[in-house]
Amino acid sequence: MGDLIGKVAIITGAGSGIGAATAECLADHGAAVTVTDINFEAAQQTADIIGQRGQQALALKQDVTMREGWVEVFDRTRTTLGVVNVLVNNAGVSGAGLDRFEEEGGLDAWRQIMNINLDAVNLGCRQAIAEMKETGGSIVNISSVMGLVGGAGPAYNASKGGVRLLTKSIASYCGRMGYPIRSNSVHPGYIWTPMVRQIAEVHEEVSSEAELEEMLRLQHPIGRLGVPEDIAAGVKFLASDAAGFMTGSELVIDGGYTCV
Ligand code: NAP
Repeated sequence: MGDLIGKVAIITGAGSGIGAATAECLADHGAAVTVTDINFEAAQQTADIIGQRGQQALALKQDVTMREGWVEVFDRTRTTLGVVNVLVNNAGVSGAGLDRFEEEGGLDAWRQIMNINLDAVNLGCRQAIAEMKETGGSIVNISSVMGLVGGAGPAYNASKGGVRLLTKSIASYCGRMGYPIRSNSVHPGYIWTPMVRQIAEVHEEVSSEAELEEMLRLQHPIGRLGVPEDIAAGVKFLASDAAGFMTGSELVIDGGYTCV
């Protein structure tokens, strides 16, 4: 339980779901964490849970699409918790039902989803490279099984596929430049979070959350949907020195979703 002692991590979108579980998990293993979210109250709630366990957490409001905000998040973290050596780009939206190919308004939705899910990951990575190029660190980008196979909305699929290759490009770049930064992506199957529960509202074939859960469960050979802690454990590994030989790789945590 102490394999992240000395690590200082920033986790975006950590007021909910996978991000919240990841912040808690990294703190449980010894990291000091900055919990950011567009919803400050939610970020504060996660930080409070961590603080109540006697661990270090700083809550900040951050819209990941805002470039200047990234500088501030790294500055505030450095002055409050220490030099940052882990960035988890987790914030994202599903955009479920918004970017259908043949619907008016679909293109606007596409741009919005790409901005949050892909462009903002690039912003975070650029800042992390600038911060970590001397001191070293680990970037973990939350992609999806939808970054490996089709099946979601076009913007979600394209953004998550983009995150997968952006992650590899950063790994390759940092290697060429001699920067001691590892960069890996994580590809969750369906995890029962507010983002997924929301799909029930727009899915044509289901009329309730329970129906959605059962339909999705059947797509996972392991026989259940994921929980945020399943993903947090993988992120924790990639953030730790135990993953010291891993860069440019994709960690699939999907209950077998992509094996069928
Ligand atoms: P979630 O419960 O909805 O949490 C996402 C968090 O990100 C929310 O607190 C959300 O705030 C926040 N957020 C949204 N836009 C933001 C922005 N512009 N700046 C900062 N924060 C923002 O979702 P989740 O299921 O945990 O998903 C986390 C990540 O895992 C996402 O990247 C998602 O694509 C990926 N993922 C999820 C699944 C899954 O099945 N759940 C599967 C594969 C990959 P609001 O709620 O206020 O919008």
